[in-house]
Amino acid sequence: MDSQPVIAALPGLCGITPDALRRWLAEAGEPAFRCAQILDWVWRKKADSFDAMTNLSAPLRLKLASAFRAHPLEHRETRGSADTTRKFLFRLHDGRYVESVLIPANPALYGGRSDRRTLCVSSQVGCAYGCRFCASGLAGFTRNLDAAEIAGQVLAAERLSGERVDNLVFMGMGEPLANLRHLLDAVALLTGTETLNLGARHLTISTSGLVPQIRELADHPQQFGLAISLHGASDDVREAIMPVNRKWPLADLLAALDYWNSRGRRKLTLEYILIDDVNDSDAQARLLARHARRLHAKVNLIPYNTVDGLDWRRPDESRCRKFRDILVQAGVRATLRLEKGHDIDAACGQLRLKQETGEGLVRPAAMRGS
Ligand code: SF4
Repeated sequence: MDSQPVIAALPGLCGITPDALRRWLAEAGEPAFRCAQILDWVWRKKADSFDAMTNLSAPLRLKLASAFRAHPLEHRETRGSADTTRKFLFRLHDGRYVESVLIPANPALYGGRSDRRTLCVSSQVGCAYGCRFCASGLAGFTRNLDAAEIAGQVLAAERLSGERVDNLVFMGMGEPLANLRHLLDAVALLTGTETLNLGARHLTISTSGLVPQIRELADHPQQFGLAISLHGASDDVREAIMPVNRKWPLADLLAALDYWNSRGRRKLTLEYILIDDVNDSDAQARLLARHARRLHAKVNLIPYNTVDGLDWRRPDESRCRKFRDILVQAGVRATLRLEKGHDIDAACGQLRLKQETGEGLVRPAAMRGS
């Protein structure tokens, strides 16, 4: 953290539901039509100050400023460029940092169109789950983001880039399902017809495998996708990479995913980071294929992205292709992608860690045994 003064912790305006805003306006003695005007400034025009809301009266702007923050995120830095991956670093009111990553879509998946954008959104400052490949877990958990701080990342990314975000993945810093209430409040705002109006099918929630919350999410009425950070196809291998597996071993996780499927849910993806000599054996590929077939899930293979302070290595390309081929030959839909943004610290948590700890990352001793 830097030493700049902490901004007063008023609620972010983009975290207020339209109904709550209507109530607030009525109590403030303002006419009802002001609600649509304010929502238009926040969600369509992406205004980040009350001064910009020029069709509101000056007294109303003052009242708003005394009750809300116009935007919960202070933009500090952008890395990358429009034709690659861009990473945005934001400072929060308490001096903490979060980051969002804007990724151009692979044109091959969109009929040659290269104008599609996916935003990778953070849900917590830090993370308590300590996955051993992940920069976000290095400094431990600090706090949950509120709904405004989650949804505000989308508004800020669209305002800063001047581009529309087509898809959202809750896959940035933090474990989204450990912050389920705020996450679902943000999802309601992002998909609401009076707010951003994104289709739920364009949202994917990622988790390291929190079984009770997966079951709760399975019963949610909206049809967003689910991505599981699997990274190991047997308990011994997964446990060495993901401590969460001790609490919810594979049998429990697979049963929860069967439940997800039984609820008629849509997209289910298994994310699998390939780490040299850790989880990239033929035996792991065959086991992974068995899980994916059982779950009717797609598999994303991601060669390991070097993290300063961590010891693991990326397998060579022929090893990665062999692993993918075993899955494909078993009838599994599997993609092998070179992770975008390698050169701008796009793996989750890396830019924020550098901001908070300085350029030289130190791996905390407490993480070594996790
Ligand atoms: S991969 Fe996700 S759940 Fe695991 S430590 Fe990183 S942020 Fe947390």
